[in-house]
Amino acid sequence: MSKVRGILKQIGSFLSRLRFERQLVRRIQRRTVTQEHLTDADSLVFSQTVQESIESRKPFISIVPLNTVPDDVLQRLERAISRTLDIETEITPPLDLAFAFDSSRNQYNSTVILTRLLEILPDGAFKILGVTNVDLFIPILTFVFGEAQLNGAAAVVSMYRMENELYGLPRDERNLQDRLTKELFHELGHTFGLLHCDDYDCVMHASTYAEEIDLKSDSFCASCYEWVSSILADK
Ligand SMILES: [Zn+2]
Ligand SMILES: [Zn+2]
Repeated sequence: MSKVRGILKQIGSFLSRLRFERQLVRRIQRRTVTQEHLTDADSLVFSQTVQESIESRKPFISIVPLNTVPDDVLQRLERAISRTLDIETEITPPLDLAFAFDSSRNQYNSTVILTRLLEILPDGAFKILGVTNVDLFIPILTFVFGEAQLNGAAAVVSMYRMENELYGLPRDERNLQDRLTKELFHELGHTFGLLHCDDYDCVMHASTYAEEIDLKSDSFCASCYEWVSSILADK
């Protein structure tokens, strides 16, 4: 009887240790994500399982227009990806975002969108990028330009908060496209496992406000580029 009690006690302490470790991991993840949020208007989700599942896929990127995005905007993004990273892209039919709308905030939940994008990752695609012009948010932030899975397959980016008109300035299509391209590369970089870069000119430099996006280039710095290239070389 005392032997049984001993075993039960061991199981109990094992379970409580497991619970403690899970809480610890969650706390660490939450803290890391929060730091990202504080320094950048984008957001990260951590994923190991997706990394495993993308290992066997060919290097093409799926671009998903969310609600309505003009064709020429998407085609310019395709050309930018092809020019910078020499990766093939494919534009899918538009995805209606009604499922991610939060009526209490009148905004769209970017994490919910990421989850859906992962569910529709096409065969042969190793990344899926959602592009939209609706206002995105995560619960702890007023808005985000985008959100990406660190080391994962999915990212989403919105031009809504990049529009000059929102800040009382005249509309500037060229500037809007430049900002969108930069933030798309930025989120894509996160899916390759890149964190924020100290180089002010690097596209992986964090930007909290729309004008800050204008200060950096649309290119990866040498070391960020080397990182991305090394991953692509393994594909
Ligand atoms: Zn970022
Ligand atoms: Zn860099």
